[in-house]
Amino acid sequence: MIGPEGRGVPTIIEMVMMTRFDCIVGSASLMRQALAQALHHCMQREISGRRLAEHALMRNVLADLALESEAALLLAMRIARRLDEAAHDARARQFVRIATAVGKYWVCKRAPAHVNEAAECLGGAGYVEESILPRLYREAPVNSTWEGSGNVQCVDVLRALAREPAALEAFLAELAPAAALDRRLAAYVARLQDDLAQADEREHRARELVGRMALALQAALLLEAGHGALADAFCATRLAGRGMVYGELPAGLDCATIVERARPQPA
Ligand SMILES: Cc1cc2nc3c(=O)[nH]c(=O)nc-3n(C[C@H](O)[C@H](O)[C@H](O)COP(=O)(O)OP(=O)(O)OC[C@H]3O[C@@H](n4cnc5c(N)ncnc54)[C@H](O)[C@@H]3O)c2cc1C
Repeated sequence: MIGPEGRGVPTIIEMVMMTRFDCIVGSASLMRQALAQALHHCMQREISGRRLAEHALMRNVLADLALESEAALLLAMRIARRLDEAAHDARARQFVRIATAVGKYWVCKRAPAHVNEAAECLGGAGYVEESILPRLYREAPVNSTWEGSGNVQCVDVLRALAREPAALEAFLAELAPAAALDRRLAAYVARLQDDLAQADEREHRARELVGRMALALQAALLLEAGHGALADAFCATRLAGRGMVYGELPAGLDCATIVERARPQPA
């Protein structure tokens, strides 16, 4: 016996929280590696007399990939911290109960498209096996499937919402400091809370709702981290329902700063 009789699901949930967290970290690191490869290539390859990374359209794509990668990393690190605290802190325990499923669903679902876009930055060289990108691309989908696939994460979030109201309270409390400082996030969280309170069609809408929970958390973490250019770009796209493909950041954002921040630095 590895837990109390009749308490199989709660017992395994404690274990799968850690393996789901592994999937989040794995996907965030695949994204970072793919981004580093794309940046490295685009900062050297010249087209029409300029480095690829200096072309406005490519800079938009690279900045958007960098944004997604940093948001994934911040989410992974916040869950890591709360998992550490969970041993002695009930609020952290309630937060990770819901946030690991939210993060596993979202980050692992975003990773394959992210790696694909990064590979395209290398053109044909990103498709053939001489580069590392095809290997990253083959690896990316597994994190979404194993340790509970996308729908299973979403159904688990619904279960937590229904049976453990303290988990949602802890999740919303995590968003509150950033939402208090940023009207865009405050309005987004208010709409999300209204929609989470609706019982109708909840299962049908589970992916949409869980995705919005993830975006709210990522926006809060970017705002808290104080990276103005990244937080602005994230709020202007992800919270505004834009960005079906990477590279649709609206004009007026500081893409150059975002790209420079993500650039691999010599050791
Ligand atoms: C490379 C690899 C290694 C693995 N290693 C291990 C291992 O070491 N140990 C281990 O135990 N398992 C392992 N697995 C199994 C893995 O965890 C499962 O494949 C995964 O959890 C999906 O479960 P399933 O294959 O039974 O699919 P199913 O549960 O049949 O799911 C099929 C589809 O139905 C969807 N679905 C399921 N339930 C619902 C629902 N209620 N509502 C809506 N949609 C739903 C799923 O999202 C999925 O899209 C491994 C899998 C892979 C690919």
